[in-house]
Amino acid sequence: MPETSGGHSPSTALDSPFGKARSMVFPRTILAGHGVLAELGRSCRSFDFPERGAVITGPKTVGIAGTRAAEILGESKFDVATVISREATPAEVDRVEGEVKAAGARFLVAVGGGSKIDITKVTAHRLRIPFVSVPTSAAHDGISSPRASLHDPGSVTSLPADVPVGVLADTAVIVQAPYRLLASGCADVISNVTAVLDWKLATRLKSEEYSSTAATLAEYAAQEILDHASLIKPNLMSGVAMSVAGSSRPCSGSEHLFSHALDRAAAHPSLHGEQCGVGAIMMMYLHGGDWKRLRSALHTIGAPVTARELGVTDEEVIEALVQAHRVRGERYTILGDNGLTREAAGKLAAVTGVVG
Ligand SMILES: [Zn+2]
Repeated sequence: MPETSGGHSPSTALDSPFGKARSMVFPRTILAGHGVLAELGRSCRSFDFPERGAVITGPKTVGIAGTRAAEILGESKFDVATVISREATPAEVDRVEGEVKAAGARFLVAVGGGSKIDITKVTAHRLRIPFVSVPTSAAHDGISSPRASLHDPGSVTSLPADVPVGVLADTAVIVQAPYRLLASGCADVISNVTAVLDWKLATRLKSEEYSSTAATLAEYAAQEILDHASLIKPNLMSGVAMSVAGSSRPCSGSEHLFSHALDRAAAHPSLHGEQCGVGAIMMMYLHGGDWKRLRSALHTIGAPVTARELGVTDEEVIEALVQAHRVRGERYTILGDNGLTREAAGKLAAVTGVVG
């Protein structure tokens, strides 16, 4: 089985026992609002991008905003190729990298959901060229985070990637995404609450470096959703929290480990954010926090709260709970060093109503 998450991660400031200097990389421009896509050409000019670039988009998102993005760049005298990408797999990243090189592109514009943005991030990182992110949905919080997830059959690899120099979140585009993607994005950001609890725990038990700024941003983003605000801002805030921390720590704890483990354990895994939401309910129970409030918020949004709603079996949930602590060994969470016994996992899933 291929390596999972932690295996490929470089040591960041948070992981390093020697506390090497942390470099914070932020997007230079974040535009969020109705019609901001029209600013794409001007933004790219302001970044002094060279003439040749490429728009990386998907088979569906090309029609939603990809073609329009290429036209807007053309109006600003850029010469851009359009590359249609599919699933975020290592093989697909290699293929996209080849097309980008063949086109002679010196900057990239990602137009799509999480997987298109992940492919672009990794390609930009490998080719050492800048990129701008134009999300077409708010399905997960990776829009401006410094990592990307690639999927192989049965495993997920989290890779270092570049942060976009600009993010243009056009709400007129994002509202066209299916509601399920929006709800999944909400669940992903809500799961910051358990991620931050795990981080605090690791700080106390393992003296892991902590950033109260990053933690506050991540918690605030989750709170915005719990208070029923819109998703665009919280989603971007999660990305900024990860940039401040220099890692995904403030937005990725035991609930994300559960989600990654479920990607491997389940025959038909569900959406990332949906799985993280269900994970957050159970991890909040372990933390002794208000898991019922979390569950009802997810339910109100229309995100899954049970194995059945996720479309996975009870046994797959329990297996994922038992395996979760192994997914990324260096990330200390409420699951501890040894994880849950099968019996404890079954009880946890049952008492929180996730199974049964
Ligand atoms: Zn996530």
